[in-house]
Parts: sequence; C-alpha cells; structure tokens
Amino acid sequence: MFDKLLIANRGEIACRIMETARRMGVRTVAVYSEADAGSRHVAMADEGWLIGPAAAAESYLVADKILEVAKSSGAGAIHPGYGFLSENAAFAEACEDAGIIFVGPTADAIRAMGLKDAAKAIMQKAKVPVVPGYHDEDQSPDVLKQAAADIGYPVLIKAVAGGGGKGMRQVHAESDFDEALEGAMRESKAAFGDDRVLIEKYLTKPRHIEIQVFGDKAGNAVHLFERDCSLQRRHQKVVEEAPAPDMPLALREQMGAAAVKAAEAIGYVGAGTVEFIVDVTNGLDGAEFFFMEMNTRLQVEHPVTEMITGYDLVEWQLRVAAGEDLPVGQDEISINGHAIEVRLYAEAPANNFLPSTGTLSRLRFGATGPHVRVDTGVREGDQVSIHYDPMIAKMIVWDRDRSSALRRLRVALADCQIAGLNSNTAFLIRVAAHPAFIDGELDTGFIERHAADLIPETGGVPYRVLVLAALDQVLRRAVDARHMATKSNDPHSPWAQVNGWVMNDDAHEVLRFADGDEEIAVTVHYQTNGYIIDMPGGSVRARGEIDVEGNLIANIDGVRSIAAVVKEGQLITVMSHGSAQRLTLHDPLEVGDMEDGGSGAITAPMFGKIVQVMAMPGDVVEKDMPLVILEAMKMEHTLCAPENGVVAEVNVVAGDQIDDGAVLVSFEEKE
Ligand code: ADP
Ligand code: ADP
Ligand code: MG
Repeated sequence: MFDKLLIANRGEIACRIMETARRMGVRTVAVYSEADAGSRHVAMADEGWLIGPAAAAESYLVADKILEVAKSSGAGAIHPGYGFLSENAAFAEACEDAGIIFVGPTADAIRAMGLKDAAKAIMQKAKVPVVPGYHDEDQSPDVLKQAAADIGYPVLIKAVAGGGGKGMRQVHAESDFDEALEGAMRESKAAFGDDRVLIEKYLTKPRHIEIQVFGDKAGNAVHLFERDCSLQRRHQKVVEEAPAPDMPLALREQMGAAAVKAAEAIGYVGAGTVEFIVDVTNGLDGAEFFFMEMNTRLQVEHPVTEMITGYDLVEWQLRVAAGEDLPVGQDEISINGHAIEVRLYAEAPANNFLPSTGTLSRLRFGATGPHVRVDTGVREGDQVSIHYDPMIAKMIVWDRDRSSALRRLRVALADCQIAGLNSNTAFLIRVAAHPAFIDGELDTGFIERHAADLIPETGGVPYRVLVLAALDQVLRRAVDARHMATKSNDPHSPWAQVNGWVMNDDAHEVLRFADGDEEIAVTVHYQTNGYIIDMPGGSVRARGEIDVEGNLIANIDGVRSIAAVVKEGQLITVMSHGSAQRLTLHDPLEVGDMEDGGSGAITAPMFGKIVQVMAMPGDVVEKDMPLVILEAMKMEHTLCAPENGVVAEVNVVAGDQIDDGAVLVSFEEKE
C-alpha cells in the first residue's frame, strides 16, 4: 500500500475518501482552487496544494498541475473521485507514465466505456441486452431520422459522450425530430466537445436499476447487488436505494451476472457501475432489462451499497489499486437490511429545481450513527458557489427493512437545518412521506407525475412560522440587552429589562414582517411569564429560550418544540420540521450595516446580484433612504442609508454579482 494519496477532487467525495485513507493509515494530499482555500476538504487533508483559479477548467480539470503536485508531494497514488478527471483516459495514462497509481480502471477500460455507442457495441458482443436503437457511425441527419422512424416513436436522442443527463432529448413525434436533434447536438458539443449522438427507444415506464461491480488485477470480478435510482429530475438522480424495492430474486441474479460479464468483457479493475434501464410497464416480475452505460468510477450513490453489504468501497478501491486481490468472493457478499440516500441540493424545487447559491448561514444535521450517515463537503458559513456542483450533502439512512429506513429518513430530514439558500429538504421529506413512494411504485416519471404533491407551495407563511419568527426576535433582543448591560457594568440599566424594550403601560411592540409582497404586522405583548403574540387571525401565548446551539426552544400555547431562526440583515429564515421559510423583518434598528462605527457604508448582507443603484457619489442622503436593491436567493432586498450623510463612493452597478460583505456604497467621513 502506498503511504500517501492525492485526492484530485473537492467537496463531499474528497472528504469521504480522506476518511477511509486516514483510517487505513494513508496520508492525504488535497488539491484546491482559489475558491476552495477555506474548504472542508482542504482542512481535512494532511496537506493542501493550490492548483489554480475557481473555474474547474483552470484547476480541478488541469491534469498536468495535479500530476505535478503528486510528484512534488510524493503521493504514490491519485484518487479522482467522481466527475472531473475520473473518467478521463488520458489522465489515467499520464498517471501510469509518471509512475503514479491511478485509483481506477485502466485507460483502455475507460476508453471502452467512455462513449455510449462503443460501450453498447461491446455489450452486444458480450451478449448483454442493450436498449434497442441506433448507434452507428453515420451521423447524417437523414440517416438518424430514418433510424428514429425504424425504432418507432417515442425515441431518446443521447450524446454518445454524454453524462449527468446532458445532451439528451425525448422525441415523441417525427415532426419534432429535427429541432430535438439540433438541441441535443448543441448541448453535447458545448458540454463534451463532441456532437455525435445515438438514438434509443424511449421507454415510457422504466426504472433505473444499476449494479455495483468490482474487479481486481488478478482477474476476479464480483457484483455487490443493485441500487434503484429511479427518482430523478432532469434525468439526474435525487433518491437512491439498495436493494431495489420488490426486486425479484431471479432478476437480481440475471442482472448481477450480466454486469459481471460486462466488467469481464473489458478486464475491469476497481469500482464500476453498470447502469440498466428496466421496463416496468408490467411490473418488475419478468421485466426486460437493458444495458444503458457503464460508469468507470466510484458513483455518487455508492454509500447505500456500503450500508447493506458492510464493506467500505473506497477501502476496496485503494487495496485493489495497490495490487491486492478482492477481499471476498461473490458467495460471501450478502444483503443486510435496506439503505436509502437522498441528495440534499442547493436548489429551488418550486422554481423548476433551479440551482441556488449563497452562504450556508446555518447547516446542522441531527444525530448520526449506525442508522444515519451524512457525507458533506461544506460546513456552516461555507459558500455554495456558481463554480461547482450544488450538492450540499448526501444523507444516507439504514434499517432492517425499507419502511423502517423510510421512517428514519423522514426523521433525519426533519432534523436538518439549512439556511442562506434554497434547499430541497422539504421536497425530500414529501417524497419520503408519499404513499406511492412508500408503496414502492417507482419509475423515472415519479417526480414529474407527483409534482403537485411533492413541491412545497411558496408564499403564505404558516401561522406557526410567524410566531416562531416573532418569538425568536424578542428573545434575541432580550439576550442582547442583557449582554449589553453586563458589558456596560450596569445590570440595572433599562436595557437589561427582559420585558422592557418598549416600556409603556401595555408593554408591547409591533414587528412588521413581509412575506413576499404581503405585509404582516405582529404585535408582541410583554407578560411577566412570556408573551402574547397577536397576528392577523388570532393570538397565542408563547415563551421560550435560545439554547447554546442557537436553537429556539419554543412553547406555544403549552406545546413545546424546537426550531431555529437565522437572521441575515433583514432576511429571516425559520427552520422547523425540515422546512425553511423566509420572511423579511423591517427592523428600524438595523437598516443597512455600519462599518466600524466610523464612516458609514452599506455592505452586502449576502451573496447576490445588484438589481438597481439609486445613489451617486456626492448625493446628500437621509437616513433610511433606499439606495441599492439587491436580488439574492430569488428575493429583492432594499438596502438603505444608515444615517444622514453624503455618498462618497458607489462600487457597484446594476447586474454585478457581489459577495457577502462587499462594500456597496460608502459615505464621507463626518467631522
Ligand atoms: P451519477 O450516476 O453518479 O449521478 P452522473 O453522471 O450524474 O453520475 O455524475 C456524477 C458526477 O459527475 C456529478 O457531479 C456530475 O456533475 C459529474 N459529471 C458527470 N459527467 C460529467 C462530465 N462529462 N464532465 C464533468 N463532470 C461530469
Ligand atoms: P447519463 O450519462 O447522463 O447518466 P444515461 O444514459 O445513464 O445518461 O441516462 C440517464 C437517465 O435518462 C437514466 O437514468 C434514465 O432515467 C433516462 N433514460 C436513459 N435512457 C433511457 C431510455 N432509453 N428510455 C427512457 N429513459 C431513459
Ligand atoms: Mg447514467
């Protein structure tokens, strides 16, 4: 075994690989881009080397730089993770030439499976069933169109170099063919530098079932059963599980054998996944399955296989790469229980799953252990940027059977607190609670078919959320006030009065929230033992405290519950039961941000885009005058003058992307 491993990747997969390397006593070398200098994967590694600017094309995809670091750092092997250089045959070859072990298959095996058309031809020869279709050289539009007609509509046009669901188009009628072909070619050219396509019969009710395979240098090959990855949006996986629900034993054996045959056909070494599509029009019993593609790397969803087999696949990868034989034979591998993985993405399900960026102002998970595993590459305070994949974390649950695992999943998701950007947490909870999903009625159309049930409605903040937001606000002020009083050495100051922010007969204050365009006034009455909170449509008795974790322990009309409320500028995120609701609070005490108390400035409360700038240098402005409109997280935020003054500099124009904390407008010094 080598002493030192370089991980040519970032994010959760880099962290996950390092965990195993550390457990095995192998030192780790991280590489990172400028954008990732403060990232978790760099902090976890024994050493970290800067390889270039944020853009992957100038850092994580630059084979030469990574090889140079491997040589300089004395790494004996490189693990490419998934994505980036993991399926790059030239890189695998360059590693070999440099005398560094590439943790993966040979360059030839990567090449054989890299293009979907060539892979299908190899599989056909090995007598593995492939999706009926056209995958020949001739790419003239007429030939392709004729092929589509011969196959029979609907068809699927796929980029031969495709991956990650890109370069794919469904075509339901001949009249749509030309346009779809152009689209697929354009997307494929842009993403993969190759515009060749193949055409397949489009199965209208399929399940995506894939087999994990493993080979070693001695020529042994085994499979580690199947994963069902049918829950997809945009042909990308969101939920994966093992074993596949209701998988007939005979089908499992047939598919496992076919996958091993596929691996053997190319002398496969290391971890690989053979993806099949299964026609479930008449259920899974006796269903036909077809080879789709082989991914010659560790797959995102490999943890579900680890949970049901008890093996660490990264350990297997490292051992096999170092020349060891597979630790067990096929007969020794068995399935124990059921595992489900969900991908927590920074995205907005209600906005067609549009990726979201921003700072993770809160990122907490519930307890992890034998039943719940969380693989992540980010920590609270980190950014999800435009440069890389918007996956925040993978949550994997395990239990003795599927319904128990699903229960674990619902609980674990409800314990997630994610703020600062949109996440699909609430969407995933709805999936995990959906009767059809619980019944195992899976196919790749599931999300689209049940979208109305699964996509959380936007707007209309529930009553309970308003109470939590108001309660948190008054509790925090009380804490701040006490803190200020302690600091000022005057515990008897009126600021120290927990119930005294506004001291009049009926001590109360009005909080003005906005939920989109809707203004909501909430009146909080201070009582000796808590508050009475009046909202449009009702009032409740509430009390609570903020614990050391920053959680809000709320008691509303006698019912105790835990939530978390995060405030960034005027934006408030209320997290409870896995949902994250946003409100804005018009806080007269916190208009804009002040810089060091001296010269005033407006700083960006979060990552976003400038929509409009209403200030010019030299402008005389009054306190609270709106000066900049910022769009962040799909909401507009008005930033106002912190006090009366004169504008010194305006550093932004409409359309600028700005970072959290950037100074947008500064003011002239006052004498
Ligand atoms: P999986 O089946 O593991 O989800 P995908 O093909 O969807 O596999 O992609 C896994 C990861 O690799 C994702 O992070 C995706 O963005 C990345 N990826 C896939 N194909 C490519 C490619 N051709 N170039 C760069 N990254 C890719
Ligand atoms: P990628 O390389 O982008 O992962 P795949 O060939 O693996 O491309 O296909 C991605 C997804 O598209 C599959 O998981 C499946 O949901 C869908 N798909 C692929 N081929 C077909 C087909 N012939 N009929 C219906 N759906 C398909
Ligand atoms: Mg695929």
